[in-house]
Formats: sequence, structure tokens, C-alpha cells
Amino acid sequence: MSKPLQGNELPLIGTIIPPGLRVLLATAIVALLLLTLAGALTIPFAFESPSMWYKFGIEKTSLRAGKMLGLTAGLLMLLQLPLAGRLKFLDRIFSLPGLMRQHRMHAWAIVILALIHPLCVLLPEGRLIVPLEMRYWPEWIGVVLLVFILSQFVVSQWRQSMGLAFHTWMRFHRIAGLLIAVLLVVHALYVSESFSEDGLPRLAVVVAAAAFLLFWMWVRSAWLRVRRKPFLVSRVEPTGSDCTCVELTPAAQTFFSYVPGQFVWVSFASATVVPEPHAFTLSSAPSRPGMLQFTIRACGDWTHTVGGLSIGDRAFIQGPFGRFGHLHTDPDRELIMIAGGIGITPMLSMLRFMADYGDPRPVTLIWSNRSKKNVAFTDEMDALAAKLTGLRMIPTFTRDAESGKRSGRLDRTSLETMLSACSRGSAIFVCGPPQMMKQVSTDLKTIGFPARSIFTEAFGL
Ligand SMILES: Cc1cc2nc3c(=O)[nH]c(=O)nc-3n(C[C@H](O)[C@H](O)[C@H](O)COP(=O)(O)OP(=O)(O)OC[C@H]3O[C@@H](n4cnc5c(N)ncnc54)[C@H](O)[C@@H]3O)c2cc1C
Repeated sequence: MSKPLQGNELPLIGTIIPPGLRVLLATAIVALLLLTLAGALTIPFAFESPSMWYKFGIEKTSLRAGKMLGLTAGLLMLLQLPLAGRLKFLDRIFSLPGLMRQHRMHAWAIVILALIHPLCVLLPEGRLIVPLEMRYWPEWIGVVLLVFILSQFVVSQWRQSMGLAFHTWMRFHRIAGLLIAVLLVVHALYVSESFSEDGLPRLAVVVAAAAFLLFWMWVRSAWLRVRRKPFLVSRVEPTGSDCTCVELTPAAQTFFSYVPGQFVWVSFASATVVPEPHAFTLSSAPSRPGMLQFTIRACGDWTHTVGGLSIGDRAFIQGPFGRFGHLHTDPDRELIMIAGGIGITPMLSMLRFMADYGDPRPVTLIWSNRSKKNVAFTDEMDALAAKLTGLRMIPTFTRDAESGKRSGRLDRTSLETMLSACSRGSAIFVCGPPQMMKQVSTDLKTIGFPARSIFTEAFGL
């Protein structure tokens, strides 16, 4: 194993934006978005279309409101590309999982606005449907757009019950996203005379469309860029009952900088593994460069094939992403780590990093597994416990009552007992199955740990 980085090599470890600057940048970005929205919402007032001139009272208000809702929905639709485009700059400020949460919430807002917009616009005309006439083609583009938006939403929400594999859905989702943007721009440019001729609103739509297209090309070419820095599979080994440990080394003399707890998208050029990118936490520590490690639990069609990778297969990495890790908190703070099953990977990265630098602070690690045979890294965990003087490790098992070990799920009572000696000011990291994280977070708050000290990482975006 390589030696940990020392002294002036340390800046090679990933980028962390200081909290003050992060808040400043986040505020500036949100303010810019709100200003853009405010500017767009002035269009139905400052650039009235002739259809507004002959409307009064409630009809005029409804038409104007409809246009404002449509403009808001349109801006939100264009915003989804930076939100879901895996941009490192935005990840450093907002964190990718947070951006993806926003992406999912915006989907609801877009659907609601897109459904109300035509009602508000058509009702003042005394209509509920668009007439089947050639001159109404921009309105019909709007109808097609609405159908696309609704299909995109329904398929994304109920993908699993429809039996759609993630990668099939993702391909459909991306193509539909681009079509939605194209339909949106055509609809906006031709549906209302507010956007006609050489006025400012038309120019704004053209600039927004051009920016979106450039941005889209940048996002879609990300994999071409990462292909220039390939990695090679250097180790593939089963660990625990259902996990595979995969190690990569850079093919050329390149340095991959990251922070403990971060994740990447990895894809392989291999005879046995399909080259689709999947998200995995780096279980290795950045203090030991030259090797990246993943611990992959077999849970679906792709992860079941990972054991078939061969030494020397090429791998491509997009990332790193995420803000889940002890380096994002105060360096003197006591730490509590609660992992469920494979949720140990970010904790492992943090603990390996802390062991390399002899971090003496108290750390309590609660690791819940189904049974003892599911536990990976048993020897290394013991070695870490020996190296980290402040580490207190508490293994728990949910299925079988091991002699002398705890059994059953983590609940309020067990957590209260296990954490009775821990400071209420500790930073707490929780990673595991969604249901477990939800329950543990609630229980932690009930026993007196403030919500702002609890950081969670979900293994699903
Ligand atoms: C931030 C993050 C960190 C993760 N870290 C680890 C880890 O350290 N170890 C580990 O074993 N697992 C980790 N995962 C989970 C891992 O990504 C999935 O288990 C894996 O992609 C499942 O693929 P599958 O085709 O075998 O299973 P499937 O049954 O096809 O998929 C199961 C679920 O995994 C997710 N998923 C599937 N394909 C993709 C994809 N291409 N991109 C993103 N998500 C996808 C979907 O939510 C899907 O519903 C992590 C996930 C995330 C989001």
C-alpha cells in the first residue's frame, strides 16, 4: 500500500469551499435566478400582446397569470439541466444529492404550473381546447409539450412499478428532456406576440436557448472528457457475503483528488460488465493516492456482474461529488458514524484517512449488519481500531442473535444506550438503507442531537 501524503503534498487532497464563501456563492446564485425570474415575469406587463388589449377585469388577470405561470414553468424546465447535469462547481456549493432532491421537487412544480397555465390562458378565450386549425400550430406545440412533461413525470415517478430498468429509463429521460427544451423554446417564441419581432423578450429566449444548448453539449460530453484519464482495474476480490472489492490505479501519471466520503460515477470497458456508469462511494482514503477502491454490494443486474471484471480492464471516473464527510465539519468535533450494511463505505474512507494522520478525537462507529457473515473488512476494522485511539466500534446485527453481540434493529432505546457517553455537539454521519436512515435520524433528534449535526448520505439519487 502507498504511503500517506505528507506536508506540502496535502493540498492535493480534494477541494473544500470554506463555509462562509459557500453561503456567499449559494446566495449569489439563488439571487441571480430570482432576478432572472423577476425579469421574465415583467414580460406580460411590459410587452403586452394584442390578445391582452381587449381583455378586462378577471379575464385580463387570468390571461396575465397564465402567462406568468407559463414563464415560471419554462424557466424551471431549463434550470433542470444544471441541477441534474452533475456539475462539480455546483456540487461543491450545494452538493449533488441536494441538487437532485431539488430536481425531483421541481418536477412536481413544473407539472402543476404546466397544467394550470393552459387553463388560465384558454378560459378568457372561452375555450377549453385548442381549435384544430393551422394558425394555432404554436398552441399545438404547447399541447405536445404538456404531453411530454406529463409522460416524463409519470414514468420517472413510477419507473419501478412499471418494471423499467434504471439505465433504460435514464436514456428515455435524457432524450425526453432535450425534446422538452426544444418544444419549449419553439412554443415560447411563436405562441405570443410578446415575443415577436426584434423585442427584448425574443432576444432573451434566443440567448437562453443558446446557453442551454452549449450547456447541454458540455454536460453530454463529460464522458468524452473523462475518457482522456482512464484507470485500470488492479484488484477484484469478493468481500463479506455479497460484496466485491474493486481497486483501480490511474493508467497514466495523473492525480485524482477527492475528500473522504465522496462518490464518483464509474464505468468499465470490460468483456463482462456493461459500460453503463454507476455511482459508488470511494472507500479508499485520499491520503493514499495512486489507488481508488470501491466496495460494491451485489443488489441488481449490473452489480451482480462486477465480480467478473479482469485485471487490466479500463475504468472511467466522473467526479468526485458530495459533501458527506468529517472534513466538512469542525476539526475538533467529536464524531459519531452510523452505518447500515454497505453504508460503511464513506465511513471507511473517513476512518482510513483519520488513521493515516493519527486523528486522536473520539469516534463512535455503530455498524449494523444483517448477520456476522455479511460483515466485510473484519481484519481491517480491527487494525483501524488498534490505530485510532479514539475509535469505539459497536457492531450490531439485525437478523441473528450473536452471542454477546447486540441484535435487532437500531431504535431509540438502543441508540440512547450506545451514545450515552457521546457529546450532544458531535457531528453525526448516517448512511444505510433509506428506512433505517429516516428512523435513526428521528431517534437521534428525540434523544437530543440537534438536526443540524446529523448528516445523511442516501445510496440512491
Ligand atoms: C451517492 C451514492 C453512493 C453509492 N455508494 C455505493 C457503495 O459504496 N457501494 C455500493 O454497493 N453501492 C453504492 N451505491 C448504490 C449503487 O449505485 C447501486 O446499488 C447500483 O448502481 C445498482 O445498480 P444495479 O444495476 O446492479 O441495480 P438495479 O437494481 O438496476 O438498481 C438499483 C437502484 O440503484 C440505482 N441505480 C441503478 N443504476 C444506476 C446508475 N447507473 N446511476 C445511479 N443510480 C443507479 C437506482 O436507484 C436503482 O433503483 C451508491 C449510490 C449512490 C447514489
